[in-house]
This record gives sequence, C-alpha cells and structure tokens, in this order.
Amino acid sequence: MFRTLFAASLLAAASPLAAHVNHSPLVDPKVAALRDATLTGDTYAWDITEGLTTEVGPRLAGTEAEARARDWAVKKLTALGFSNVRVEPFNMPVWSRGRESAEILAPFPQPMVVAALGNSGSTGPDGVSGEIVAFDSVDALKAAPDELVRGKIVFVDHHMTPTQDGSSYGGFRSPRSQGPTIASKKGALAIVIRSIGTDYHRNPHTGVMTFDNGAKPIPAGALSIPDAEQLLRILKRGQPVRMKLVLESQVVAGQSGNVIAEVPGRDPSLPPILVGGHLDSWDQGTGAVDDGAGIAIAAASAKHIMDAGRPLRTIRVIWFGAEEVGLFGGEDYRKQHGKEPHHALIESDFGADKIWKVNSKLGDARKPEAEAIGKALAPIGIVTGSFNEADGSDIGPMLADGLPGIGLSQDGTRYFDLHHTPDDTLDKIDPAQLRQNVAAWTTVLAILSGGIEEPKARKRR
Ligand SMILES: [Zn+2]
Repeated sequence: MFRTLFAASLLAAASPLAAHVNHSPLVDPKVAALRDATLTGDTYAWDITEGLTTEVGPRLAGTEAEARARDWAVKKLTALGFSNVRVEPFNMPVWSRGRESAEILAPFPQPMVVAALGNSGSTGPDGVSGEIVAFDSVDALKAAPDELVRGKIVFVDHHMTPTQDGSSYGGFRSPRSQGPTIASKKGALAIVIRSIGTDYHRNPHTGVMTFDNGAKPIPAGALSIPDAEQLLRILKRGQPVRMKLVLESQVVAGQSGNVIAEVPGRDPSLPPILVGGHLDSWDQGTGAVDDGAGIAIAAASAKHIMDAGRPLRTIRVIWFGAEEVGLFGGEDYRKQHGKEPHHALIESDFGADKIWKVNSKLGDARKPEAEAIGKALAPIGIVTGSFNEADGSDIGPMLADGLPGIGLSQDGTRYFDLHHTPDDTLDKIDPAQLRQNVAAWTTVLAILSGGIEEPKARKRR
C-alpha cells in the first residue's frame, strides 16, 4: 500500500500522463517538492527547540522564566521574518513548587522520590507524617468509607501501559485528576499517586490537578514508578506503613501571555489558518518534548511557506502560554478570537516522534481538501483517519465550539516515559522524526493556504 501510493505520487509529479494511468487525483508537484525538501532539509525546528531549551530552559507558567521565554519568542519570530509579532497577555494564579521529599518512617525506613502535582497544597516546611492507606484505583478510593481514609496519607496505584495513540493517558490519569479531590473530601492528610507514566526511571511525573467541588487543598504528590512499586512491596509485608512527606508550594497572582506571529496572506479578508503549540513547560526538565518541539514544528512549517512565497491565506502562528497548568492560553485566545472565522486550527503537543495518522474536521463541503491532504501525506508514511475529528489541548475547546481543524497524530509509544519529568530534555528528540513532522505540517499548510505565489524575482529564473 505504502509503495503503491508513493510510486503513484512520484509518477504524478513527473508526468501529467500518470494521472490518466492511475485514475487518482494529482498531488500538486509544488506541494510534493516542498514536502520532500523539508523532510530532508529542515533545520528551523531543531534550531528553535535547541535555542529555547538552551537559552531559556524550563518555563513554568506565570513565572519569570515563562516571561523570559516570551521575550525570547518575540525576538526569534521577528528574526525569522514573521509579521505582526506580538504578545497578548492575561492574568492567572501562579502555582510553584518548593522543597519536596518523601520517606518511609516505618517499618523499613528509607527515602523515596516524589514530585508535587501542580496545585498541590503545601505541607509547610516541617512536612506531615501519617499512615498509608493504599488503593489500586480511583474507583476503590471512591468506594472506601471515610473512616478508613481520614487522617491518613492515601496512595493510589494504576496500571497504565504505553499505546501508540496515547489513549491510555486519558484512561489512566484519574489518580491525578480526581484522586486528590476525593481524598480531600474523605478527610485525608495528603495523597501520593503512582506517577502517570510508562517508564521505569526513578523520575516522578508531575502534572496539573484541581481541587473541585469545594475540596480543600491537601498536599498531593507523585512517586516515581520504581518507588510506587517499592511502596507496594512494603505494604504487602502486612505491617502499618508510615510516611513523612514534605511538599512545599505556593500560589501567587501573576501573568502569562500568548505569543502570536503571522505570515500575511495575499487576501487579508480570508480567515487565517492557526498553527500552534504551547510555550510554557513543567519545571523539572527543559520542556523539549513538551512542548518545545511542538511550537518549533508549527513555526518551522509556517516559515517554509514564507520562504516559498506568499500564501493566499494568512498563517497565524501561536505559542500559547500556560497550557500545562490549565489551558489558560487557549482559553484567553478563545475569549478574544474564538468567534472570528478560522480556516483551520492545528496544534502540535504530543512530542516529536513520527506522525502516523491525519484526522480532519473541515466539514462535508471541504472533503476534497481533506482528501488532498491525505493523498499528499501518504508518501511520508501517514495514513488518513477520520474526516470528522481533530484534537489539540489549547485548541480543543474551540474545535468543540465548531471551528474546523486538522489533527496530525504522532507516535506516542515513548511519550509517557518522558512526559512531565526531569527527563524531558533535548537529547530525547530524534532530528529525523522531527523533520518528518515539519514535512507533514508544511504539506498541510501548503494545501490549506490556497496556493503560494512565488516571489517575482524567483519566477523569472
Ligand atoms: Zn504539552
């Protein structure tokens, strides 16, 4: 299947006769050429990811580091030649971590590796100590009588496994998303969960959670997976297990912002194509995979269109602020621009591994556009999925509102080994797979943009 499509598109590009032979719609040779050139030749995406992670490093939402990242972004996008480079600021509560540690006090005293979850309550500098009560799922915690939980440190386990499409994250993150609220409502002293991840490194996975329905904030942390399994073995010995937990944290009022830049279209009256990722990251790694690569893929592909000439439609690049801690950037853009028409929304926020599937949600009338995208992406190993869905964290609410979008699915098999850990660093990015992402995005933009007019000087050659 792969070979046939590849051969068909090559033939189609080489000779108009090929279209008659194959009875398949032609892939525009200019689009194919751009795709193939970026697949082997893109350097923009690596440069952006390398620059941001080196010159800024971690950039927790709302902090001084994220503000430095916005300054860096404005300079970088301006230097690349984008137009209308600007920051749209917004206010938000800013959570940050302080000192954190965990240790088993009894029956087998030993240290454990823990990270506070975003929005965790603070234990204060002296920490808290209590007996562990363990559950193998959130449902088991939910079903437990309050007396069993009150005054104790809750531990919640889970059984997440890696999946190519990342779907296990949705299915297994409830210990983080719901566990703290349920534990708080039942009067728990604190909660620790098995990290929502799929690796066996001694790195805890942080991530955001919120205390819902008036639950009072309690200290909430994630143990690394080796530590969670160690705790389970200690519990199996049948004696009461006591843990000491120090999770210092604070919340202050602060500001974040979305960085926006454009490749102006020849017809400014047409709705723009929005491409983005999120600029903020968690604080332990350098946010290379999540989401330095994503913003780099979005900007690099727009830059390749800019280099090729002037698109008919404007391409708007957005580097969202404060995604990790609650989609604040996406929500602010939606508030300010969500009612304006957009030709399509696309977001990259699932690492930098190879894209294997394209979904779209452009509506029935635009099915030929969606089919043309599928056809042009097939030669780089991408299958066409649904014509009725697209996804993205920041753009999710706007897609749900009915705005059109494209979803380019990356291979998520190793994504949750690194996700929200100190291990999210530049060395985890495979440059060849990153270029395949840029090639796919550039192809999609070339088709959606409505045609690229080459600069006059180049035409004459
Ligand atoms: Zn992300």
